[in-house]
Amino acid sequence: MNSAEIITIGDELLIGQTVDTNSAWIGAQLNLYGIGVKRITSIQDRREEIVSALNESLGRRSGLVLITGGLGPTSDDITKETLAEYFGSKLVTDSGVLETVTERLRIRNLEMNDNNRRQAMVPEHCTVLPNQTGTAPGMMFEKEGIIIISMPGVPLEMKHIMQEHVLPMIARKAGKGVILHKNIMTYGTFEAKLAERLEQFERELPDDIKLAYLPAHGVIKLRLTGHGDNSSAVRESISGQVSKLYTIIPDVIYGEDEVTLEEKVGSLLLDNGLTLSTAESCTGGKIASLITSVPGSSAWFMGSVVAYDNEIKTKLLGIDPETIRVYGAVSRETAAAMARGVRLLTGTDYAVGVTGIAGPTGGTPEKPVGTVWIAVASDSGIVTERHNFADDRIINISRSANTALNLLRKQIISR
Ligand code: AMP
Ligand code: MG
Repeated sequence: MNSAEIITIGDELLIGQTVDTNSAWIGAQLNLYGIGVKRITSIQDRREEIVSALNESLGRRSGLVLITGGLGPTSDDITKETLAEYFGSKLVTDSGVLETVTERLRIRNLEMNDNNRRQAMVPEHCTVLPNQTGTAPGMMFEKEGIIIISMPGVPLEMKHIMQEHVLPMIARKAGKGVILHKNIMTYGTFEAKLAERLEQFERELPDDIKLAYLPAHGVIKLRLTGHGDNSSAVRESISGQVSKLYTIIPDVIYGEDEVTLEEKVGSLLLDNGLTLSTAESCTGGKIASLITSVPGSSAWFMGSVVAYDNEIKTKLLGIDPETIRVYGAVSRETAAAMARGVRLLTGTDYAVGVTGIAGPTGGTPEKPVGTVWIAVASDSGIVTERHNFADDRIINISRSANTALNLLRKQIISR
């Protein structure tokens, strides 16, 4: 059993009333047991849909089909009846389930009705997977060597049945298959470029290791996924590939696992006993906000001047009005003066200055929307970079902030 399918049943899933979190949770659990999910299907509470989803899943011959939903006591829940019919079984009362239902009703001081009695009925030829968290039990069928398991849609009850019955059964059957992931975080390149640099690396990857590119706001997460029988062998194989990545793209890797640029910068400042301040125009304090989202940042972050208006740039940061008049508010000279000014004001080791045109208006042919100047000032002087990001205001702000953090990070590690 090395692959599975998930079928979630419920009208509410198809009209956006309930988000299918069951599939995500089940997928993550199966992953830990070395079972890849081949397909997730969500369908209505309709007999024809259930039958056709089952036919299709069984036809693809994954070893395991996990179904959730449609097991409630009301008339819209028809999964059990449909499964009984599908597997050619009649419904019979299960004394164990009847006892559970009776007991749950007794605790809540409720009378048993026909709906409750219906809940204690299960297809004759199934293995009942008891549910201590609700009234509907799980049911396990087997057909042509494929295991089919039906569970309630209520996430808590589904998880209970998975943890009590399904996962232990999988662990017994699957042996020790494992899937492990390792994320390498990169910044300062784009997906197509990265893929080009990693062409040979990807060609040389062993069969049991896969590489995925996961981009978000300029950060590209490289996820290595390895699978095998033995977790220490898989871990070793992945770590060999990670070392290789460090030799091929050392300039763009900034960290591992889920670390963010602001966390990385924070730990570099902390480890080296350094402090930081920012002077922000187009980012409007975004960099300060990212930095202070990291717990403990008061140890390395002193403060920020959001110098949006030119008068604030000159009054608070001490920038010569001539600099702005001659070179413009969005220029190398102004960005550098902002970084220098806030560093003087706060007395920090490092200071960042950012000025740009976030858009949608304010662009010119020489300085189109998306033009951003970033400066980092320190004892070793001031470095500046010009970037041309996007047409979109929100993207420009977020890329400016991340790029400033990355430039700062590079300055700190090369000091
Ligand atoms: P059911 O077993 O169909 O009676 O499901 C009971 C309740 O569980 C539904 O009303 C939903 O709120 C919830 N539920 C059903 N399916 C899912 C799912 N795939 N993901 C998350 N919640 C679900
Ligand atoms: Mg339902």
